[in-house]
Amino acid sequence: MRATVMYGAGDVRVENVPDARLEEPTDALLVVTRSCICGSDLWPYKSMEPTEEGRRMGHEFIGRVEAVGSEVRTVKPGDLVVAPFAWSDGTCVFCREGLQTSCLHGGWWGGTEQDGGQGEAVRVPQADGTLVVLPVEEDDALMPSLLTLSDVMGTGWFAADAANVKPGVTVVVVGDGAVGLLGVLSAKQMGAERIIAMSRHESRQKLAREFGATDIVTERGDEGVERIKQLTKGVGADSVLECVGTQESMMQAIRSTRPGGSVGYVGVPHGVELQGEDLFYSHVRLHGGPAPVRRYLPQLIDLVMKNEINPGKVFDLTLPLDQVADGYRAMDERRAIKTLLRP
Ligand SMILES: [Zn+2]
Repeated sequence: MRATVMYGAGDVRVENVPDARLEEPTDALLVVTRSCICGSDLWPYKSMEPTEEGRRMGHEFIGRVEAVGSEVRTVKPGDLVVAPFAWSDGTCVFCREGLQTSCLHGGWWGGTEQDGGQGEAVRVPQADGTLVVLPVEEDDALMPSLLTLSDVMGTGWFAADAANVKPGVTVVVVGDGAVGLLGVLSAKQMGAERIIAMSRHESRQKLAREFGATDIVTERGDEGVERIKQLTKGVGADSVLECVGTQESMMQAIRSTRPGGSVGYVGVPHGVELQGEDLFYSHVRLHGGPAPVRRYLPQLIDLVMKNEINPGKVFDLTLPLDQVADGYRAMDERRAIKTLLRP
């Protein structure tokens, strides 16, 4: 089968790899019908050391079930399913609490051991706990929106949830990638009264406004914090979503939050170091981590099916799998917000 392999920074190829197949009785085999490139894929795209063996890419996908192991009960061949960006058994102590990304028997797509989503097929471990059947056909117009539920929409939703967004609150969103933009949409859905998006890019500002942003702040650092204070009667925001993962963005988030407020952080941290004293005197609640998007899938599928949210608008480039390298380049150069791939 064909699949995406990254060999080092800037070096992404589509190659023939061994066919995905069932290995465990709890596995399902999926033929991928849609996948995409994530902002987090850009981290290795910028910085990965060259390797001989390469790394399989992609963790957001929808597919048709081709075969299932003998113990799989909740999906069957022919079903169209969405996979969250991590697999989980659905039964352990953390899964039962809705923290599926801490599953005791879970794991992550791609790398050197597992199939990635940016390919023609995927072996899905723990199929019963992981996959959710979609109530639509393969070419449904809602497909881009449903695809976002495997990561970016669920991650934006978790950021808002972790930041304790409630009706009437003031929200700041740090980061204008797909997750930040969908964090805006999530905050709007959860009833936030004021949503301040921090963005310097016109096309992203426009989408942020469409998703519910009431204010745009283009400043960063001290000036950014100052601007947020001006917009919030000098106190800071109730809820802040950190959707980047750098030292600068994390401190921007913490410093934009009012004492007693909450930061939900979902940007994969790269070199973030927090000073105890800064945290101590900021008096903010911090909650973040890899979003347990599996928890939110049924609810978010329902909102998409009812046309109450349209997160698929974050896709502004669609390419065939063979041109995946162009998709990475476009996102890296910020010409595209998010690239959808068709096998
Ligand atoms: Zn589990």
